[in-house]
Amino acid sequence: MGFVIDTPEVASVAVHGSEDRFPVRRIFCVGRNYAAHAREMGHDPDREVPFYFTKPSDAVVDNGVDVPYPSITENFHYEAELVAAIGKTCTNVSVENALDHVYGYAVGNDLTRRDLQGDSKKKGRPWDTGKAFDHSAPCAEIHLTADVPDVESARIWLTVNDEIKQDSNVNMLIWSVAEVIANLSTLFTLEPGDLIYTGTPEGVGPVVKGDVIKIGIDGLTELETKIV
Ligand code: MN
Repeated sequence: MGFVIDTPEVASVAVHGSEDRFPVRRIFCVGRNYAAHAREMGHDPDREVPFYFTKPSDAVVDNGVDVPYPSITENFHYEAELVAAIGKTCTNVSVENALDHVYGYAVGNDLTRRDLQGDSKKKGRPWDTGKAFDHSAPCAEIHLTADVPDVESARIWLTVNDEIKQDSNVNMLIWSVAEVIANLSTLFTLEPGDLIYTGTPEGVGPVVKGDVIKIGIDGLTELETKIV
């Protein structure tokens, strides 16, 4: 059996120290997972349970690859995030066992059309046009879990044109990576190839054409993206 059109390319992310790549199945993102960011967006972090949105798998962009300034926005934002790559199937996994299902970690950027997201919030509409557009998920090389034992207490920072904009620590997550995986696995069967963007700290803001965004998390490969 063949297919009636050419099969789409499998989206994938580079793996540190390997020629082979990590195939991307789905991209889940956690909303408002750092208290100071929830506050800057006008919400009370204490009363929020985790919530999720998704991006298409082919929104991933490799490290160093330019991202075109998207259409239909005048407020295009960066969001520095720790990305967890799922390596084993899990449903209803416990917090204690959740991290056994992580293949590795990477630095990601949850690019956002903030104006369209804001309109969607006001109108009670889905966030897809604000969040799930082409090239909206740059992701650097995945590092194997065993190689980054301290990732949950690592500094996370972002610069635009070498000026610091976000500077926090992964230990400020409201819901830890293990808690996110445990909760998300009650809603979806998580499968190898799924990526989870775990949320951004405070300091989000706009970029324009020509800007260079660099994101670092201690122990992981730095992610660099130019907006063109
Ligand atoms: Mn985000």
